[in-house]
Amino acid sequence: MTNNKKTYHLIRTNRRTLAIYIRDNGSVEVRAPKRMPVAEIEGFLNKKTRWITEHQQLVQNSRIKKQHFKLNNGTNLLLLGNEVPLRMDSGLSKSTSFFLSLKEPCFCGPVDLSLSERKREIGRAYKEYAELFIPDRVNKYSKQTGWIPDKVRVGSAKTRWGSCSEKGSLNFSWVLIMAPLETIDYVVIHELCHLSEFNHSKSFWNLVAQYCPEYKRHQKELKGLAKRIEDEGWLP
Ligand SMILES: [Zn+2]
Repeated sequence: MTNNKKTYHLIRTNRRTLAIYIRDNGSVEVRAPKRMPVAEIEGFLNKKTRWITEHQQLVQNSRIKKQHFKLNNGTNLLLLGNEVPLRMDSGLSKSTSFFLSLKEPCFCGPVDLSLSERKREIGRAYKEYAELFIPDRVNKYSKQTGWIPDKVRVGSAKTRWGSCSEKGSLNFSWVLIMAPLETIDYVVIHELCHLSEFNHSKSFWNLVAQYCPEYKRHQKELKGLAKRIEDEGWLP
């Protein structure tokens, strides 16, 4: 099957409309209703050629950035909205864990680790710091709002910065620690507001705006941050 000499993967599903996806390797995936004629599908693909090419380009750019992100001595890493350098110290033995020095500040660790070991170790140092930092912010706004979560956890969620369970536990993704303080606070306030409004209704957003008037700016900030986290491949 071809679309302008490009192949695509056709998946027949129970859905009622056609959808096109660009896979991570740049290939095109088409999900189509069971009985839709191939001619109709290909006609649609031909109309979408430009969209497909543009999105394949975006996927490819992101893949190239990921390959070029190396975690070398001096590489800048994002922490609380600031660029913090990575320092690999030849004086440290291979068994020394990477740590975050807040004095300098920098991420410090030994030289002789592989890229994947460095990434795992730095991810761990980030997460440890997030586990101290984020619950502290929850505490602050909990006192201000009077809403007390059942539990606060910091995990490795890939698609959400934060979430609130029906039982009132709040979960945050450790990568949130890369965001500027006010943006972290927005996510904290957002989740705390769910303890009062368990939805995204107008009254929920009014509540968020009451504690965080600039929440729309922070949502934009998070979009940019998501892109960088993706390009650097922090959450595989
Ligand atoms: Zn929400």
